[in-house]
Amino acid sequence: MTDILNYINGGWVAPIGRKFFDNVDPARGEVYSRVPDSDERDVAAAVQAAQVAFPAWSAMPVQQRANLLLKVADLIDRDLELLSRAESQDQGKPVKLARVMDIPRASANLRFFATGIIHFSSEAHATDNEAINYTLRTPVGVVGCISPWNLPLYLFTWKIAPALAAGCTVVAKPSELTPMTAYLFSKLCAEAGLPPGVLNIVHGMGSRAGQAIVENPDIAAISFTGGTVTGKKIAATAAPMFKKLSLELGGKNPNLVFADCDFEMAVKTSVAAAFTNQGEICLCGSRIFVERPLFDRFAAEFVRQTQEMVVGDPMSNQTRLGALVSEGHLEKVLSYIELARQEGGKILTGGKRVKLATHPNGFFVEPTVITGLSHTCRTNQEEIFGPVVTLVPFDSEEDAVEMANSTPYGLAATVWTENLKRAHRVAGQIKSGIVWVNCWLLRDLRTPFGGMKQSGVGREGGWEALRFFTEAKNVCIKLK
Ligand code: NAD
Repeated sequence: MTDILNYINGGWVAPIGRKFFDNVDPARGEVYSRVPDSDERDVAAAVQAAQVAFPAWSAMPVQQRANLLLKVADLIDRDLELLSRAESQDQGKPVKLARVMDIPRASANLRFFATGIIHFSSEAHATDNEAINYTLRTPVGVVGCISPWNLPLYLFTWKIAPALAAGCTVVAKPSELTPMTAYLFSKLCAEAGLPPGVLNIVHGMGSRAGQAIVENPDIAAISFTGGTVTGKKIAATAAPMFKKLSLELGGKNPNLVFADCDFEMAVKTSVAAAFTNQGEICLCGSRIFVERPLFDRFAAEFVRQTQEMVVGDPMSNQTRLGALVSEGHLEKVLSYIELARQEGGKILTGGKRVKLATHPNGFFVEPTVITGLSHTCRTNQEEIFGPVVTLVPFDSEEDAVEMANSTPYGLAATVWTENLKRAHRVAGQIKSGIVWVNCWLLRDLRTPFGGMKQSGVGREGGWEALRFFTEAKNVCIKLK
């Protein structure tokens, strides 16, 4: 049984309180490693190391800093198979998905920001003939990066890479449910020669280790991805301390299918958008609105393709849906299916837990398609974050937009239509941080990423992330 350790000041240490908790393999329902139950003392040690490391790291020539991050990226690629298997075992996702998405994206994050920082520049403004203004951008200092369990290494590096590239030093905490690849990542950082204290990883519970990061007065900024309820709590703690905050929160994303769409592509991609990673992606399209003339045909084909998907051993290459991340999450998802029934929903397919002969205690759920519900019911308003989607018919473009915008969330949306004017019209009216037209999860790391309403505050990605991790200072020089 592996004991995961904190990574502080370039070394691996047990938590000061010597307490660990169990880490469960969700496909087997068995404990397979232990996680440090860190508290504010461990966070304080990590912050101190980060403070000591900050002057040299922020002053290091940018190309040298970039080279170190590129080296880490190369090591991730070298360990693709090991990391993919570790991610799959820890999270429950198909290893095949980790191999093509999670782990390659982790190295891409590092490469993207390592090269991005070299091109990062600031503005100058000539003020008539009076003065010249320029903007200095300096790293904010020690920052906290807190990430969720659904895309563990992918989202961990999405925050750490721009922070380090910008010259900040970092205290990071992965989710307590999926700490393994962050632990393996710490070893790669050390192998690449990242100086001690530049990146510190403290493992533990959100309410203890996470809260201690947010409360620590020497952490200047917090980049958080996770649930909206947690985001609210973090904002309440951080705001009176005037910390910079970037919050990437939950979603309940609409997928609008117009009758004039490319039918084959719309169904196939909507199925992927619904169930990739067991529906545990914040960007999954979970509310599918279909124009009424197409509704029955779309529903029939959607259900047919859903039933073809194999729920199975995450380590098998045939598997499309692995296990949900934890028993608690499995219960939450099943309770939402029950709620949908109570609200009058009709289950077209799925709806039950899956007991695999090889993995009788795993947390597997059938991909589930529900119809017959109003867009205002709880099932269609609250984030389920599992393999559960609803199909709802609509009669006009206005109805579709209104239903799409009718939740407190505003993270992502997809629109399927071959009508160019409609595509632009609808994209302009949807209140979300991303609108995909005739595609899903097509990501360009230069684009601003984030949510409106209760899906978040601020944007990450591209220059936005580098701006977040730096402070802008205006210098004004009088010319006369
Ligand atoms: P979560 O909010 O429970 O936990 C996220 C992280 O915050 C974990 O590391 C956790 O330990 C930590 N945490 C919990 N309480 C804390 C506190 N009081 N102070 C500081 N840290 C604390 O979220 P989760 O269940 O791990 O992830 C699922 C959620 O994340 C979903 O709502 C999903 O939509 C969202 N998500 C959003 C995005 C995005 O980019 N917007 C991406 C992925 C996931």
